[in-house]
Amino acid sequence: MASHILHRTTDRDLPVAVRGDGLYIVAADGRRYLDASGGPAVSCLGHSDAAVAEAVADQARRLAYAHTGFFTSEAAEELALRLTAAAPGDLDYAYLVSGGSEANEAALKLARQYFLEKGESARHRFIARRQSYHGNTIGALSVGGNMARREPYRPILMDWSHVSPCYGYRGQEEGESDAAYGDRLAAELDAEIRRLGPESVAGFIAEPVVGASLGAAPAVPGYFRKVREVLDRHGVLLILDEVMCGMGRCGSLYACEQEDVVPDILTCAKGLGASYVSIGAMLLSRRIRDAIAAGSGAFQHGHTYLGHPVAAAGALAVHRRLVDDGLVEGVAAKGALLERLLLERFGNHPHVGEIRGRGLFLGLELVRDRTTKAPFEPSVKLHQRIKRAALERDMICYPGGGTIDGVRGDHVILAPPFIAGDADLSEIVGRLGEAVDAAI
Ligand code: PLP
Repeated sequence: MASHILHRTTDRDLPVAVRGDGLYIVAADGRRYLDASGGPAVSCLGHSDAAVAEAVADQARRLAYAHTGFFTSEAAEELALRLTAAAPGDLDYAYLVSGGSEANEAALKLARQYFLEKGESARHRFIARRQSYHGNTIGALSVGGNMARREPYRPILMDWSHVSPCYGYRGQEEGESDAAYGDRLAAELDAEIRRLGPESVAGFIAEPVVGASLGAAPAVPGYFRKVREVLDRHGVLLILDEVMCGMGRCGSLYACEQEDVVPDILTCAKGLGASYVSIGAMLLSRRIRDAIAAGSGAFQHGHTYLGHPVAAAGALAVHRRLVDDGLVEGVAAKGALLERLLLERFGNHPHVGEIRGRGLFLGLELVRDRTTKAPFEPSVKLHQRIKRAALERDMICYPGGGTIDGVRGDHVILAPPFIAGDADLSEIVGRLGEAVDAAI
């Protein structure tokens, strides 16, 4: 039967996924796909978590929806309490949406409104980093620095500015220490704020560990603390996008815990619903909530499915599995094993320039020449070849490619579910090795 869905690509038929089984997605034809990246770092509990499925069904039976203009719900309240109690600093309030782009869209608007409430109406600009991704809606795409995704929409995007990402593999100069690199990037941010006029800048947005656009690239130690100092000096808000790297993926519930910084606004999504429900969250500091309470009294933003009880109940059950059942606690050790296996398989591989990441969020930088770091030509379409080669081996991984200031880079991300056992991790690395060799 012909499909009536506008799929992401129109050039091929997709297998029909019918069932989840732990780390595997089972298709209608019986093929079992090993999900080595949890889709795009979403399925942190695998595909058949009975406790989460039951919580979702139970909430749907009791109460599916109550408009947030009239009601709150037990599930949303309890989820917000859990998210904020576990969050660093004074991130004491949560705003529940349906995904990552929506969370970032809300964060940009909240930052703008915060300054309006305070009478600093000139603050409307945002700074982000090149080769970043914050979502596909117009505001989130406007701050994002993934040129390929932005290009077609340039005439309708808002014009916000970009500074260099913290991307040691290509950004750090020969012999430059981590500290000096962090200082240089902080100075660049400082200069950009001054160029724009500090009184006009509302926020700086960044991913603690960059996902889709750089391939699990963490910042050098101290970078985010230096960024925070610069922003504080100019009264600019720090928005951390943990949509992909948060919710335990990097080994701590919030990735920023490892950077020793507290943002003013933090967004999360993928692992929050763990693929069982469509949900995102924006956490905000008490200071921002108080400014709204003391001013207009209403956040000027809203969607029909805000704080959806079924989504909240699913995320609550996910949170219990992650925190109460100790799954996040296990991520660091599993991640260390996965990294060791990757080093064994790819440590001397002629086309692997770097193995990096945190926890169960690891990436390989793929290069034509490991010595010169010369990338593959765009025409090679390496990420598509790797995706295909992995699929031929019944495995899903998350390859990507892009350009920073004219320099190309290719990577592949592994983000297996936290329930993966040692044998699963070996199997993933084995199949990835075959796929990379077949694709290059
Ligand atoms: N922010 C980051 C860092 C992401 O990786 C993504 C999605 O990949 C988004 C935002 C957008 O999230 P969503 O696709 O749920 O809208």
